[in-house]
Amino acid sequence: MLKYCPTCERSSKEIRFIGEFCEACIIKKLAKRLPNTIKVSYCKRCERLKAPGGYVEFDNKALASVITHDVCERNSTAKVKSFDGDVAVVDFIYNVEGEQVHVEMKEGIEKKHLICRDCYRKSSGYYEALVQLRGDRIRMENMVTKIKNFLASNSAFITKIEELDEGLDVYVSDKKAMNAFFLYSRINPKRSYTLYGIKEGREVYRNIYALRL
Ligand SMILES: [Zn+2]
Ligand SMILES: [Zn+2]
Repeated sequence: MLKYCPTCERSSKEIRFIGEFCEACIIKKLAKRLPNTIKVSYCKRCERLKAPGGYVEFDNKALASVITHDVCERNSTAKVKSFDGDVAVVDFIYNVEGEQVHVEMKEGIEKKHLICRDCYRKSSGYYEALVQLRGDRIRMENMVTKIKNFLASNSAFITKIEELDEGLDVYVSDKKAMNAFFLYSRINPKRSYTLYGIKEGREVYRNIYALRL
């Protein structure tokens, strides 16, 4: 049966219909509800984007996840088709009465600069764990490389390395990641703890691991 759009009077011969309205009018209506600019936050040091699950590499996919989270309604998701640093071409994909409708928009991307927790910690010399390596120089250096690689894939890092006559003191940002490293590597260092402060009424400890190689 031939339908006529109540808004623009186009017929279903000329254009796809979704329910009572033509697709063009539905797209117009949906586009009106979308903003022209979208605010995102990113770290000015590491240039990662603040996404719903944490800081991630700033690419089109990450930007799309932020837009979907912050802007999209329940029946839609966003896909970023291009981004030149200021303007993103975004495909908003809606589900309207079981049909897919694409609304393409040019969105100005307003960037707010932050410093993420990792960069803050790096710059302030933050550490939760100290690994005291002693023994053979080459084996110590190999161990540092292993630790570095493991931490990099667990969003942790080495804050600093102190070269001492008796060995290397390795300061690490995250004691959970360090525990995981020893568990994963099946290494059992000698463990001790020092109290370094009180946070929200609880005592906070730094882990010290002594390892002879
Ligand atoms: Zn219409
Ligand atoms: Zn950062």
